[in-house]
Amino acid sequence: MNSQQGTFEFAETPEWQNAANEDVMVAEVVFNLPLERPYTYAIPDTIRDRIKAGQRVKAPLGRGNRSVVGYCVAVRPADQSQRVLKPISELLDSEPLLDERMLELTRWIAERYLCGWGQVLDSVIPAGVRRKSGTREVQSFILTPGNEEKLTTTRFSRQQKAVIEILQKSSDPIAATDLCERAVCGPAPLNSLRKKGLITALRVRSDITGDELATFEQQQDLELNDQQQLALDRILQPIRASEYETLLLHGVTGSGKTEVYIRAIREVVSYGRQAIVLVPEISLTPQTIRRFRSRFNSVAVLHSHMTDAERHWQWQQIASGGIEVIVGARSAVFAPTPHLGLIVIDEEHEPSFKQDSTPRYHAREVARKRCLDEKVPLILGSATPTLESWLRAQRKIDALVSMPSRVAERPLPPVVIVDTRDDPRIKRGSSIGRALFQAITRALNEKGQVILFLNLRGYSPTVWCRSCGTGIKCPNCDVTLTWHRDRQAAVCHSCDYEIPPPKVCPKCESPTVRYLGTGTQKLDEEVQNTFPNARVLRMDSDSMKKPGSHDEALNKFRHGEVEILLGTQMIAKGLDFPNVTLVGVVDADTMLRQPDMRAAERTFQLIAQVAGRTGRGERGGRVLVQTTCPNDPAVKFASKHDFIGFAQHELAERHDGQAPPFSHVARVIFRGPDEDRVRRTARDVADKLRAARKGTTKDVRILGAAPAPVIRLRTLWRFHLQIAGKTPELVRELWQSVESSLTLPEGVELAVDVDPINAR
Ligand SMILES: [Zn+2]
Ligand SMILES: [Zn+2]
Repeated sequence: MNSQQGTFEFAETPEWQNAANEDVMVAEVVFNLPLERPYTYAIPDTIRDRIKAGQRVKAPLGRGNRSVVGYCVAVRPADQSQRVLKPISELLDSEPLLDERMLELTRWIAERYLCGWGQVLDSVIPAGVRRKSGTREVQSFILTPGNEEKLTTTRFSRQQKAVIEILQKSSDPIAATDLCERAVCGPAPLNSLRKKGLITALRVRSDITGDELATFEQQQDLELNDQQQLALDRILQPIRASEYETLLLHGVTGSGKTEVYIRAIREVVSYGRQAIVLVPEISLTPQTIRRFRSRFNSVAVLHSHMTDAERHWQWQQIASGGIEVIVGARSAVFAPTPHLGLIVIDEEHEPSFKQDSTPRYHAREVARKRCLDEKVPLILGSATPTLESWLRAQRKIDALVSMPSRVAERPLPPVVIVDTRDDPRIKRGSSIGRALFQAITRALNEKGQVILFLNLRGYSPTVWCRSCGTGIKCPNCDVTLTWHRDRQAAVCHSCDYEIPPPKVCPKCESPTVRYLGTGTQKLDEEVQNTFPNARVLRMDSDSMKKPGSHDEALNKFRHGEVEILLGTQMIAKGLDFPNVTLVGVVDADTMLRQPDMRAAERTFQLIAQVAGRTGRGERGGRVLVQTTCPNDPAVKFASKHDFIGFAQHELAERHDGQAPPFSHVARVIFRGPDEDRVRRTARDVADKLRAARKGTTKDVRILGAAPAPVIRLRTLWRFHLQIAGKTPELVRELWQSVESSLTLPEGVELAVDVDPINAR
């Protein structure tokens, strides 16, 4: 959903009349609009007995009295002075889509993240659930085996033929709704094919395919070491007491956190309750899923590539209580478990837990609120917690559970910082300096495996004009184009604009276009040329587009079919390969140079996470970090595996600047096609906020309005301002005091981002 608060106008209901009736019930309805308050409607007799909070309705809205779909959030007696209201026109669901607790959670999100309640509901309830409400089940179809001849001899209608062709091309069952959509038909052709015995309806979970359909051999629990046992004992306290508590499980890479989660979940499941495990989308690999499926009887996986039908099926299974463990990305925090017992967020520092479109919620904060309301514990696990979570633990608001050593007493690998400023190989244009070259050579000679990390994709990250002395930018965005050699294209990573590599500069028309810098594609080429006998595999979002390619690549590496694995963040996550004896961070500067308050924190996290990929076997391992800033604190602390030292240092810096986590920020972004108008609007709103602040508390500051770091994105100009305050409430109050009276000029829209983590 889009977040903009546009120039939507809503008229007060025109036909107010005077009337009062004590027994009359009214319904409160919210719509998918950036408005927090509900509208009140009369309930017609025909639906009086059926309407409940959590159902969708159609109701007239706005000046034209257009019938709009909304969510009934409350049914209550009319006020004494209640005037006659417009009636609801239609009730869409037979049962509520959400229970009272989830309704309250969504209301809280709207308030906390300054957006509309209806916007939150529209985002939280899967589209498949909204569409399918009222139907009983979702069926998937396959071609009935053994009918090959009949298929060639029977005469079919055009639509039946389309259905058969789609099923022939698919090795997996296809949900009825998807099948109808793809064959552009209704249910009739499916029914007649089924009667003829040519297709078969399955009630299988269509998200699991191939080897995953096989039942999982249940594995025994592993024996915990002392450190894991201590952590588990501490976590079991609030579980056994049925109490809310947030526990920050700070465990170094390789300390065996997942095993602790599994044992905590086992306890919860033994009480007949359900657990939700949130992992970053990128970690939702078959490997992770297998790990949970081999330990629990019923595991549902919620990820972003599911069809509406699959999502609906899962949602129903979860709501019926038939699932023990739900593993999923960010939005799985809304899984409708009837008896929640625990939420675990693994890799809690991952930015992907924050949604970057409305509602811009952070799954950690939503989980915290949900656990508080349902009186269950929340576990946040990380080797490199966010400073937000760390500070809460330091202040003893949350409990800190530490696992400072790796399993089997394996030491963390030594990290060497390599200053590349005078490196002879780098000076000759290589991206692998002398020390890293020697280390790779040695690792390969000793039959070890190597991981090389570089967080720039493409061939050359900058298309450059030597005459202008600047990068050649996307015409739609304030972003330099990246050269992708394999596609022979200059690409904008912000809007996917793509042109053939320019022969002349589009600005000055001089033929001095150059490609600067090294992305993963170029590194791939260089590594292959430098180490011709090694087999090299690249993992980034360009090379891993095909479903399943991620798992396939990791399998190759695991089985030793590849010696050097190189890639972006994708390779920094949770991989555990004992034969990796060397990790190279090719360019730590690329992370440090980001114009972002969190650049140091991200650099530390990435180096620590990538370094954690080695030294997991008996052979040990080491890490080389190439940088031109060898004295940067983030790099230095990371080289010593010193998270606590880094956190102290960085928190002191943030404290001096009163930056988060010492303040709470709402970022208001204005955008539109006319630069001047957007700038003026942003300044006007900043002035209004400053005026509103006068005479109130001084614990709120307004920063800006100023151009956003990326001033132009997808053809729209962008300006922003920030409201920073001691508490989220102060920020919210100030914004709300101004928001209601705002009228935006045409062509300017705004979006509010509470606790922003994306500085763009
Ligand atoms: Zn030029
Ligand atoms: Zn662009």
